Amino acid sequence: MHILLMGPPGAGKGTQAANIVKEFEIPHISTGDMFRAAIKEGTELGKKAKACMDAGNLVPDEITVGIVRERLAKDDCKRGFILDGFPRTVDQADALTKILKEVGIELKCALNVNVPAADLVERAVGRRICKFCGATYHVKFNPSKKDGVCDMCGGELFQRADDTEETMKNRLSVYESSTRPLIEYYKNAGLYVEVDGRQEINKVYEDIVELLNK
Ligand SMILES: [Zn+2]
Repeated sequence: MHILLMGPPGAGKGTQAANIVKEFEIPHISTGDMFRAAIKEGTELGKKAKACMDAGNLVPDEITVGIVRERLAKDDCKRGFILDGFPRTVDQADALTKILKEVGIELKCALNVNVPAADLVERAVGRRICKFCGATYHVKFNPSKKDGVCDMCGGELFQRADDTEETMKNRLSVYESSTRPLIEYYKNAGLYVEVDGRQEINKVYEDIVELLNK
């Protein structure tokens, strides 16, 4: 089962990916992990990627695509995978389509955990985290019993510096402009499916399993 996982930042993709990996016993392939592995193994592409990153530059598409190609050609991908964080642009999606043809893999679907931008901003802005035990709360959806105090350990709750309206809006606008066109791309390819990511986490996962078992 070869799945492409999509969704805006903060939609809860990570949690859902972890669930899918466990249930379907397929590798979770994220761009970050692929880069780290290529660099650690010291492959040619890994060395090039590291040089870019050390110089503070973005890694060019040809290197990223090369690293994805190497990873998807490995044996553990034959049965399935969940690909996360790639592609981010239509050019990368074209590259992925070619790679999959080369290695003889057909995607089952491009699965989008869909959450409207306004909801993501509200989620981020209301998030509170315990300084001591790391428990997370939300001022509206999951408030602590006493304002600013952790239910579990009595620790003080704080707001992460990047959980602001401005930061979230910036991240989402980057997502909208570069990644949103991928939805059209995969609709045209007949591979697009989506779940409503606004629901409770377990319900989102139920919907995902239902789609994957179709
Ligand atoms: Zn706590």
